[in-house]
Amino acid sequence: MITFYPGPSKVYPQIAKYMQSAFEEGILSINHRSPECMDITQSAIQLLHERLNIPHQYSVYFISSATEAWEIIAQSLTKEKSTHLYNGAFGEKWAEYAGKLLKQTENIVFGIEEIASPAMLPQLEIEVLCLTQNETSNATQIKDLSVFRKAFPESIIAVDATSSLGGISLNWEDGDVWFASVQKCLGLPAGMAVMICSPKAIERATEINDRKYYNSLLFIHENFIKFQTHYTPNVLNMYLLNKILYEIPNISTISKKIKKQSKSWYEFLNTSEKFGLNCLVQNIETQSDTVIAVQGSEETIQAVKERTKLAGITLGNGYGKWKNSTFRIANFPAIEEFEITKLKEILG
Ligand SMILES: *Cc1c(COP(=O)(O)O)cnc(C)c1O
Repeated sequence: MITFYPGPSKVYPQIAKYMQSAFEEGILSINHRSPECMDITQSAIQLLHERLNIPHQYSVYFISSATEAWEIIAQSLTKEKSTHLYNGAFGEKWAEYAGKLLKQTENIVFGIEEIASPAMLPQLEIEVLCLTQNETSNATQIKDLSVFRKAFPESIIAVDATSSLGGISLNWEDGDVWFASVQKCLGLPAGMAVMICSPKAIERATEINDRKYYNSLLFIHENFIKFQTHYTPNVLNMYLLNKILYEIPNISTISKKIKKQSKSWYEFLNTSEKFGLNCLVQNIETQSDTVIAVQGSEETIQAVKERTKLAGITLGNGYGKWKNSTFRIANFPAIEEFEITKLKEILG
């Protein structure tokens, strides 16, 4: 089976043997406060720093999901209000979750062909700015986050990078909180997420001093200093993350490959009008590198889905209002070249 679904997505093929070795090594039954488990946690954190070029002063935590990160940011890093700038379903969901926990949120929506910029925001003081680096639902991305960092140096900037972290190089200094669940670009089974915090985020959490919840950020932080977790964690996924990170090259190498592949996908789609297909997003400045949305008439999309299904290939469905007029293709590192070639053959 070949899948281009943008999450849960194709896992690295080596996962099969590492699941087996986790079982044989007894990893699945170890105590989460044992030295073996602390070693796995420590090593996964160190490898994440190394492979993804995360600055050493940034802390890395493992939590359950990206959705959990949305709540942690509202609970532990926001006093009054978060500001949400988004153009798609995941950014909107984040604003909704934050809205349930906070007195106030400010929501600003922009278009899929528009380049997100600080000029879209009220030039008042922003406490927490919430951005979705890669909007999985409509295959757009915010390429340059540094403009936000420059415009709001005092704010906490939180970035949902669920469908890009592990696929493209990210400029960590542009954000204070970064997070991604592992079942997308990181090519692992679902059930865990990575959360990365700047020293300023930890300072802000200390000021706010939220300790009401099992997943209050300070509580998580204090456990992770000892390479322990605030609850029994997904040890299997931490083990698998270790194994995969150990094998893959540095993110700068992966990022080059992913961007080359996305360029090739967009070129392919720009010349595929004769098959009745084109890109949902036209602006090359907002097109995602890791998720590609393909548009066509409902009949064409239906026909493509049937043809790919017969060939044993799963595509990502369109999302929301584009459900029947688009499909999505994940361009994640676990997907192999022969799979891309095969899909292009069928589409052509
Ligand atoms: C998939 C996704 C999420 C939700 O991830 P969960 O692991 O289900 O919490 C959040 N944000 C983005 C951008 C996503 O693609």
